[in-house]
Amino acid sequence: MQGILIKSIGGFFFVADSEKNIYKCSIRGRIQEKLYPGDYVKINKEELTIEDFLPRKNLLKRPKIANVDQVLIMHSLKKPEFKSSLLDRFILLVESSGFEPLIVINKIELAEAGYKRQFDDYKKAGYQVYFISVKENLNFEPLLKTLDKKVNVLTGPSGVGKSSFLNEIIKGADLKTASVSKKLKKGVHTTRLVELLSLENKGWIADTPGFSSMSKVDLDIEAENLSWYFPEIAQLNNDCRFNGCNHIHEPGCKVKKEVKSGEISKKRYDNYKEIYTELKEKEIRY
Ligand code: GDP
Ligand code: ZN
Repeated sequence: MQGILIKSIGGFFFVADSEKNIYKCSIRGRIQEKLYPGDYVKINKEELTIEDFLPRKNLLKRPKIANVDQVLIMHSLKKPEFKSSLLDRFILLVESSGFEPLIVINKIELAEAGYKRQFDDYKKAGYQVYFISVKENLNFEPLLKTLDKKVNVLTGPSGVGKSSFLNEIIKGADLKTASVSKKLKKGVHTTRLVELLSLENKGWIADTPGFSSMSKVDLDIEAENLSWYFPEIAQLNNDCRFNGCNHIHEPGCKVKKEVKSGEISKKRYDNYKEIYTELKEKEIRY
């Protein structure tokens, strides 16, 4: 039988089948590879052993989760106040690691009318943006639909409502919800268990340790490659006068032209420049 590894504790591996029945398995000695949540494995149901595991399509580094389909980047509109430069850094982190980001904006009940407009830039750049309120249970339906049948990872700065969100959406009458809420709230110093939490239907979601500030997260990108992670800039990368234009102060730059005309978001471009400069300085230092 094939299943997905959801967590391992004390040498045991918890594997879920497609109906989300859970099997507590041990592992055959001949499997040398270290297994992570998200790994697909073959188990022997009688002996409760993992016999084999299937090739991974990817592996998230921190925390280690295999076969990730998409990464939800949660930010809040208020408390803490929305900052596009921080969101752009999270997007970069996710994109440069080769994962698909999905933007989730929480606490919309605190917002003034017209708040959605500031996210048009992201939609235009091709990102999906979901607006929710965990507190008032607003707009969960479309978001949950995109999580179904996937391995999802939730990330974002602390305080935006990630653990509140998980507590709302994690299903299952077992110990999960209780242990999750406690673990997510505390656990700054403890090494937290990495596990796939069960969503309704067929999806899974994993939490990541919160980042209070992005400076702790080193963007492993070369300044010269940064533009490729801004889709609206990347599509013009070959249209500037100079090959390999970095769109900073080169003449004949198509990107700068489109920023001027409003075709490309000034805010996103400013964030690009800020991060470019930062990466450049880091390269000089090392
Ligand atoms: P985390 O650090 O991202 O896990 O954030 P938490 O889930 O711990 O939430 C931080 C604070 O925001 C808590 O006081 C929550 O009650 C609050 N919160 C979460 N969702 C909402 C929301 O939709 N609206 C408002 N106003 N507060 C929220
Ligand atoms: Zn250019």
